Order: sequence, then structure tokens, then C-alpha cells
Amino acid sequence: MVILESCPFCGSQHVESSEVDINGWMVECMDCHATGPIGRTKALSVTAWCRRHLKATVDSQSVATAA
Ligand SMILES: [Zn+2]
Repeated sequence: MVILESCPFCGSQHVESSEVDINGWMVECMDCHATGPIGRTKALSVTAWCRRHLKATVDSQSVATAA
């Protein structure tokens, strides 16, 4: 089972990866609707989300208004 990082924007743990294209998966926060990068598999989208989570702690000011 894949463990998703909590949302870097609102801190919610209500994040899910869903299929958004024929071979594209994307993690979305169900509370603030922040989205991660699209990956070709569910696992890749989760990996990208977790990377973004790490990066977001550095860039949090620049993305604070995105939502
Ligand atoms: Zn959120």
C-alpha cells in the first residue's frame, strides 16, 4: 500500500491519487485541491507528490497564493 504525504499547502491528510488521463495519474488534495505532477502510473504520481512535498517546504512562500 502506498502512503501519501500530507498536503504541503493545507496539511490535510485527505489526499488521493486518481487517474486523470489514459495513462496519467495525479495526486490531489481533497481539501484545498492542490495537485501534484502527473505521473504515468499511480506509484509515479505519488513519488512526484512526495518530492514536491519536500521541495514545497523550501518554496512555500512562492506557492502560498496558488490555491
Ligand atoms: Zn491541501
